[in-house]
Amino acid sequence: MRPIQRCSSQRAKNDVIDMFWVYENEPTNKTRIHLGRCPWCNCGQGIDKPKEIGILGAWHGPFQNYKQALDCAESTGKPVNNCGHCHPERFTE
Ligand SMILES: [Zn+2]
Repeated sequence: MRPIQRCSSQRAKNDVIDMFWVYENEPTNKTRIHLGRCPWCNCGQGIDKPKEIGILGAWHGPFQNYKQALDCAESTGKPVNNCGHCHPERFTE
């Protein structure tokens, strides 16, 4: 149910740049929703801190709309919040 998809090509990156991603943070027990273009998300690859990628948490997505991302985020069972940088909640349909 939770495949971690990455932007494997430039074309794919363009296609998903404005899609929604969910970051499940294991150490802090929080789940946050981002837009793909957010620097903290970087299209599901996270920022340039390898220790924070894949070890301390997991990216889920991409999702085509906020609702899908929210459904996934809530399914983690962790408290869900929206990124304060990219504000995905402003892009609800
Ligand atoms: Zn963000």
